[in-house]
Amino acid sequence: MSYCPSRFQTIRRPTLEVKVGAVGVGGTNPLRIQSMTTSDTQDVAATVRQCIALAEVGCEIVRITAPNVPAARCLRDIRAQFTAAGFGSVPLVADIHFLPSAAMEAVEHVEKVRVNPGNYADKKKFAVREYSDADYGQEMERLHEAFSPLVLRAKALGRSLRIGTNHGSLSDRIMNRYGDTPLGMVESALEFLRIAESHGFKQTILSMKASNPKVMIQAYRLLVERMQQEAMHYPLHLGVTEAGDGEDGRIKSAIGIGSLLLDGLGDTIRVSLTEDSVYEIPVARAIADKAMSLWSAPSRDAGTDSIDPFHFTRRETNVVQLGDSVTVGPEQPPRVIVRVGSTTRLPHALAQLSAGRLKDTPAEGILVDLDSAADLAVLPAAGAGRFLALELAPAVTADELAGPAARLAPGTMLVRTFTADEGAALGAFARLVQRHPLVLAAQIAPADFPGLDECLQQVGDARLVFALPLPSGSAGHAVGAYRQLAEQLLRLGSRAPIWIRNTAATAVQGDNSFLSKLLEASFLTGSLLCDGLGDLVSIETEADPARATQLAYNVLQGAGARISRTEFVACPSCGRTLFDLQTTTQRIREKTGHLKGVKIAIMGCIVNGPGEMADADFGYVGGAPGKINLYVGKQCVQYNLPQAEADARLIALIKEHGKWADPAPVPA
Ligand code: SF4
Repeated sequence: MSYCPSRFQTIRRPTLEVKVGAVGVGGTNPLRIQSMTTSDTQDVAATVRQCIALAEVGCEIVRITAPNVPAARCLRDIRAQFTAAGFGSVPLVADIHFLPSAAMEAVEHVEKVRVNPGNYADKKKFAVREYSDADYGQEMERLHEAFSPLVLRAKALGRSLRIGTNHGSLSDRIMNRYGDTPLGMVESALEFLRIAESHGFKQTILSMKASNPKVMIQAYRLLVERMQQEAMHYPLHLGVTEAGDGEDGRIKSAIGIGSLLLDGLGDTIRVSLTEDSVYEIPVARAIADKAMSLWSAPSRDAGTDSIDPFHFTRRETNVVQLGDSVTVGPEQPPRVIVRVGSTTRLPHALAQLSAGRLKDTPAEGILVDLDSAADLAVLPAAGAGRFLALELAPAVTADELAGPAARLAPGTMLVRTFTADEGAALGAFARLVQRHPLVLAAQIAPADFPGLDECLQQVGDARLVFALPLPSGSAGHAVGAYRQLAEQLLRLGSRAPIWIRNTAATAVQGDNSFLSKLLEASFLTGSLLCDGLGDLVSIETEADPARATQLAYNVLQGAGARISRTEFVACPSCGRTLFDLQTTTQRIREKTGHLKGVKIAIMGCIVNGPGEMADADFGYVGGAPGKINLYVGKQCVQYNLPQAEADARLIALIKEHGKWADPAPVPA
């Protein structure tokens, strides 16, 4: 692949080292963890307190917004007081939008300056106009003039820069030529990077953030490919913007950041949550530790990879019917399977999974262990709208099941691992599932496929699903092993669906916490879904089947693969925020969280919010202190509403646009 050495194991991309004060980023340095303060920058004492709190929980680089020159001037005192408190080695970064004058002030006081190439020295309103080559050339000259003083001053002072592109705030110039595409994001950064290089300045880090993990992943991949072509080797800062809070925010961040880290990209990360910044650090630490534990030297030729990593396309599959009404196939969202364990636990689990709160997010497949054919006699039915998946113990043979299998509901799935020398067993199970008719989930390690080719070609796809045996036995990571599985199916011409199994065996470090399980599921399932792979999903590390089901739906929602409730896009807040983002987000979530397929953005300020919320259906944006602007799409339809009225008006707008549904009554 042109953007990374391997998509099957994690080989770190070689980069230049950039010094952010005393902290090295890229090169041979570990992944660096960073975050941002949310206080008003001109409240120096509060900002210093937040810097200290972040540093004390392990934040290695602290960013502070500098929305104007007076705020940038305050960075001098913040730096001095932070150093006096014993944190001289923790670098500070100024976050700049629009104002070169603020950047020129900030660079005097802090170790790094982040500029947004979409609005640095640019107009605040998007204008639709054509740019001839001559116009474009003039714009480049204007940009050169505007950005060069900052580059030269940073060079003289030994500071570093970040060119931080955001999907939602690209310049008119870029939007008119490339649209708000990953390519546009990359070109936006390269314009600035070339100016820095023209001055011999190499202390630059780049980022390509978006609230949609798929867009963000594609943009970073494309950026690296373009830099390779121009022999540029700058480190990357990874992040998903407006990820939101709670489980959703963690999942979205882990999908976007984790997917890139698995491919060896990324040198510093920020997990943006709509929570107090200190809560970002343990999540970022866990993600970084998992990724670093996978860094390895190239160990083998893993073969080809046919996926186009720069454009999303879902892998084409056959339609497979599971149970009486669950269809898997190209027109269907990925289906959710929950693991229950032994057959004795099945009645209790079925009762639990039928509880009212799971109505909109049902477990469609129930996975139970089948230790012997005799257990089929006492197996309850899965119930309407569900199918049973029976994980067969190695000793259970197709012959033994031949008689009792007649009692199974059509579309029941038999799950069995086959090794390279088990062609005869595979053939026997294939005949069994055709006769009854059932579905076979064949778990085959990619390396074992060649031994089973002939048999698989005879079996055909009509009643087949594929998964990996666990543990996968792959020298790389589980995402790489699933990619290899997809390659084997392509080689065979098989269009059978792929089932992504998240089990304890896919865990990297044996960490049993819920956060670890959530991150593992996001890394594995999210990365594959963003590559267009995966038709069934199971999260099998949670003792509580209802909780595991919910987590599976949340990961599907985070990857944009199956939308089962309202999607919230909320900025993490910063010194520009005009209302309490955390309580507002929670309040709006309580009122609108049941709306399937509606996307609502909650943004702290007007300067940056409307651009950042990209493709939301409705927007709730801070317009002035105590005042809210409401948006439908990118159009502002209500200006400066008193905050007390804004929730009701937002709901009225959702109703006016036909996207409202009353919440389901809470079961007694
Ligand atoms: S949208 Fe939120 S995080 Fe972004 S600048 Fe405005 S207040 Fe800060």
